[in-house]
Amino acid sequence: MGATFESNLAQAEKHLARFQGGVLGHFIGGEVVPGASGETFANNTPIDGSLINQVAAGAPEDVDQAANAAWEAFAEWGACSGEARRSVLHRIADAIEQRAEEIALVESWDTGQPLRFMSKAAVRGAENFRFFADRAPAAANGLSLPAAHHHNFTLRQPLGPVGVITPWNTPFMLSTWKIAPALAAGCTVVHKPAEWSPLTATLLAEICHAAGLPPGVLNLVHGVGEVAGRALTEHPHVKAVAFVGESRTGSQIMVQGAPTLKRVHFELGGKNPVLVFADADLDRAVDAVTFMIYSLNGERCTSSSRLLVQQSIYDAFVERVGERAARIRVGHPLDPATEVGPLIHPNHLQKVLSYFEVAGQEGACIAVGGGRPAGLAQGNYVAPTLFSQAKAQMRIAQEEIFGPVLTAVPFADEAEAVEIANGVQYGLAAYAWTRDLGRGQRLARALDAGMIWINSENNRHLPTPFGGMKASGIGRDGGDYSFDFYMETKNVCMAHDTHSVPALGR
Ligand code: NAD
Repeated sequence: MGATFESNLAQAEKHLARFQGGVLGHFIGGEVVPGASGETFANNTPIDGSLINQVAAGAPEDVDQAANAAWEAFAEWGACSGEARRSVLHRIADAIEQRAEEIALVESWDTGQPLRFMSKAAVRGAENFRFFADRAPAAANGLSLPAAHHHNFTLRQPLGPVGVITPWNTPFMLSTWKIAPALAAGCTVVHKPAEWSPLTATLLAEICHAAGLPPGVLNLVHGVGEVAGRALTEHPHVKAVAFVGESRTGSQIMVQGAPTLKRVHFELGGKNPVLVFADADLDRAVDAVTFMIYSLNGERCTSSSRLLVQQSIYDAFVERVGERAARIRVGHPLDPATEVGPLIHPNHLQKVLSYFEVAGQEGACIAVGGGRPAGLAQGNYVAPTLFSQAKAQMRIAQEEIFGPVLTAVPFADEAEAVEIANGVQYGLAAYAWTRDLGRGQRLARALDAGMIWINSENNRHLPTPFGGMKASGIGRDGGDYSFDFYMETKNVCMAHDTHSVPALGR
């Protein structure tokens, strides 16, 4: 990775040149294809709003073509051995690693996410492929469930073509998190990436193809959610939809997919609490709390956006987090020093800024930030912000802001902490800091969240289940959980010919 801001800019310019001034097409059946309608949309960088390129706006005809390609390719890909799939997926991982710098630079430019995080995300994309590649040979394995006169065994088979719909916050990594297990399972894929961050989806399709993934196994249709995304969720060839995005969109997809009985997997929004008790290791907690809201621009589904602090240490702890927030370096995402970059889009910036007014109206204190940072008027920049003296029912403590904005709420004791933590519609992640082991165990059971970290920031281990409760999602990814979604489980019951078969009309 380039060591300086200048060298990063020079490298980015080199990798972006191919996109600039052109129209990014779809990738269907192993080929780049222009959109059927000829319509395009503009893709601008969040850094200064300048145009990067135009992108084909996928129409239902494009989705139909892609779903047909996936349907045809499934016959072979679904039937080939897990070992064969493993070797193709490892080649994809190799190619991602070789192009990791390009992926990170392009993604930073397209999303505004700081390069320091996108470099890791690109490498993590390769890890996702390797992890599921190694599990491909055993994906079909089932259980042996013998009974007195029968032998039952289960086996798993790939579902068929699946739709993968992804958001813009860390698009490359998230796409691989869905696409790698689908391919390892033997499914074929139609991917519809977010319209605000289309570039690295094209790199991924290209990489997979060059690494030997047969044509039609991974197809890509760009376009807006309500058109291309909708058509994908309605297509009869598409057997399941793996979706990452907003809770509201998840329920729309459920409605759209209902007539064709789509299997759905949803990773949705969050308003994740971090509970800090007076007995915690407060130095480590300050680091983790600051990291888990201000990294990735706060555009992170597992960000701990609600800081719940025990009353006795509330003022001192919140002040320490505030000091950190005030010192965070906001700037150009390609500058190695940058910790927070510009938000994805002017519309999203307006949404985040609107909560600064809401906080004032609700009577919370804007302890740090609360506006745009000085000297960065051009891009979608926002100052890392901390709301203190907030109450649990305020909108700033209930709604997902999805920016570098933290809301701090005091609590008296464990019971109140749990009540506040669970008093939102979401249930994705929860974090708790305490040295009391019994309390850690009690919290793990009491908190409404699909993922709980005790005395840790978000620390991922790929075999573990990832997903949310309540409005944060349906289903789990990771390890074997992913195969349960992308595969059909069959039970086979074989008689020993020893039982008496019930007879009628003998
Ligand atoms: P979004 O729901 O607006 O869009 C996500 C994707 O859905 C995009 O590709 C979009 O084009 C598509 N889409 C929109 N309407 C559609 C429709 N009617 N039919 C089919 N597809 C449609 O979300 P976003 O703003 O891109 O992403 C931010 C959200 O994603 C946040 O709520 C965040 O918490 C969530 N997220 C969740 C996780 C998780 O793992 N739980 C991870 C990352 C992001």
